[in-house]
Amino acid sequence: MKSSRKKLFTDLVAEAAGCTLCPAMCGRSAVLSELNGSPDARVMFIGEAPGRKGADRTRIPFSGDQSGANFDRYLNSINLTREEIFITSAALCNPRAESGANRRPTQKELANCSTFLQRTIALVNPRVIVTLGSVALEALKRIQYHELNLKEAAAKVQSWNGRVLVPIYHPSPQVLASHRREAEQLQDYKVVGKVVEQNND
Ligand code: SF4
Repeated sequence: MKSSRKKLFTDLVAEAAGCTLCPAMCGRSAVLSELNGSPDARVMFIGEAPGRKGADRTRIPFSGDQSGANFDRYLNSINLTREEIFITSAALCNPRAESGANRRPTQKELANCSTFLQRTIALVNPRVIVTLGSVALEALKRIQYHELNLKEAAAKVQSWNGRVLVPIYHPSPQVLASHRREAEQLQDYKVVGKVVEQNND
């Protein structure tokens, strides 16, 4: 990594770590560090937000819970390693309901965190972006407007903001059970694998 990019990344990580823009997130911290992957990666995956049992605990996106196990299985299916990718999320902190369960980030929280997402994309400068789920796909609208919706655009290669975009479903067990079954997810990742291969020079 070039030293100027490393410095910008270190500054971004420090800024996110000290961010208190979302009152309901106070007490938790942003999942953004070198554990998110290589800032030189050509491929960026964007999720919704860190999970309570997953990244909020392990500090590694998509690890430590069932969504992470599913994600690893899908990456393995196309021979993509975590060293080759960068993973971030639409909201960098873990949103929780009063019950303590994960909840979706609010529109306000997504708006608050949009600058971090925009700056992370600009810094990593990936050729390929893969959004995991509708919240991540929607979050891109705040950076450059698009009219895509996940149901119609899933696993279809798009052009967005000068990059290749592949919207796919989130790897959570709930999504697997109700919206996108294992076989379909594996097909979606085949599309991702092909796009990565085509943009890997
Ligand atoms: S979710 Fe993003 S904007 Fe909100 S407190 Fe965390 S880092 Fe800041």
